[in-house]
Amino acid sequence: MKALITGGAGFIGSHLAEYLLAGGHDVIALDNLATGSLDNLSAVSDHPRLRYISGSVLDEDLVDTLASQVDTIFHLAAAVGSFVIRDRTLASLRTNIHGTEHVLAAAHRHQVRVLIASSSEIYGKNTKIGLREDDDRVIGSPLLHRWSYSEAKAVDESLTRAYVTELDLRAVIVRLFNTVGPRQSGRYGMVIPRFVTQALAGEPLTVFGTGEQVRCFCHVLDVVPALVALVEHPEAYGTAVNVGSSEQVSIRELADRVLALTGSASGIVQMSYEEGIGPGYEDLQRRVPDCSRAHELIGFRPTRTLDDILRSVIAERSRPGLATAVS
Ligand code: UDP
Repeated sequence: MKALITGGAGFIGSHLAEYLLAGGHDVIALDNLATGSLDNLSAVSDHPRLRYISGSVLDEDLVDTLASQVDTIFHLAAAVGSFVIRDRTLASLRTNIHGTEHVLAAAHRHQVRVLIASSSEIYGKNTKIGLREDDDRVIGSPLLHRWSYSEAKAVDESLTRAYVTELDLRAVIVRLFNTVGPRQSGRYGMVIPRFVTQALAGEPLTVFGTGEQVRCFCHVLDVVPALVALVEHPEAYGTAVNVGSSEQVSIRELADRVLALTGSASGIVQMSYEEGIGPGYEDLQRRVPDCSRAHELIGFRPTRTLDDILRSVIAERSRPGLATAVS
């Protein structure tokens, strides 16, 4: 495979780059380092089959040139994280809509197969246990920045679907549920790196809302092989596939587990969403995927538990120089 990874220096992109290189593939990693970091690629920076390109998916000509050099695109570049969407709503919308348009158009021009990374945010406030790909979206007002990420990803999905049905593009949409693990930054709001960093720094863990909201966290190393298998699976083209864990945990229990596993005496501070994220934030009370489609298509089954995940993040963050501030 000759692969282009947009967002290749990001959290998921860098793990995918390592995985593809280890499998003997060639990788071009495109990143503008808005939230990614070259440190994420440090283990492979001298690899002869890796080319890093500094640039944005908003650069249509650059995307077109790179697409002409590969046979597969993993489009992971996006503005992500509740703090990013809150602070840079307009730029985030542009990146997440126009960036995807550029990737799809270039993939079509050069007859390249493509994986479009979408999100469980598509389902919005639908609290069904076991969300399936054809379940309804339950979304708040588009005037709230809170929902703009979900809206942009929905436009991306509709665009992708139209490219497949009308123009025969080979493209699969993957709806990633909470994906976590080493290298994920806490700077943009993600809860696990924030809690672990807070616990190791002896600061109270900031639980937003009641803490009864439920999430399922999947290790990035379980997600990455699924991305590769799905882009290689023609039956998946034109459809969306959930990828995530179904091990449920409340955020309060997550905080307790982080405290127990780090042995930290930090304690917990509960705060409103208004205090934690700012005005106008609506949270999702529960988000649990049904991944039977991914299982049927590619045998997807996460192997790492939440405790495995927390131990791997704690080990990474305990290394000198990495226990940085979360904000
Ligand atoms: N959260 C929290 N404290 C934090 C960061 C996040 O309680 O310091 C909560 C957040 O409100 C949400 C959950 O943890 O209910 C997961 O947040 P994250 O941003 O990691 O992912 P989301 O599921 O919201 O996309």
